[in-house]
Amino acid sequence: MTEIYRDRSPVKVGHYKSILEEQGIKVFVRNDVLSAMEAPIPVFFPALCVMNDEDHDRAIKILQDIIQKEKAEIYNPDITCPKCKEENPATFETCWSCSSDIK
Ligand SMILES: [Zn+2]
Repeated sequence: MTEIYRDRSPVKVGHYKSILEEQGIKVFVRNDVLSAMEAPIPVFFPALCVMNDEDHDRAIKILQDIIQKEKAEIYNPDITCPKCKEENPATFETCWSCSSDIK
């Protein structure tokens, strides 16, 4: 059993937990009960742990991918289409309006 992620927000930890479970990785949240008291001390933050150590590397990899993707979504502003000036989400490769290449 190894801790792979820790955050103040039980919602965030729960979110990553369900993603890893979907990937077939057995995980559990430590300190889940304590977090209900919103302890301000990091050691009591809910911690996501893998049950089987052999899943550790894969779990870390999946988490890193998700966190990176989420950051990209937060920091990438919308792209304005150079042709029709419509706003497109940063994840789009072609304009939803006129199908121009916006990457
Ligand atoms: Zn366009």
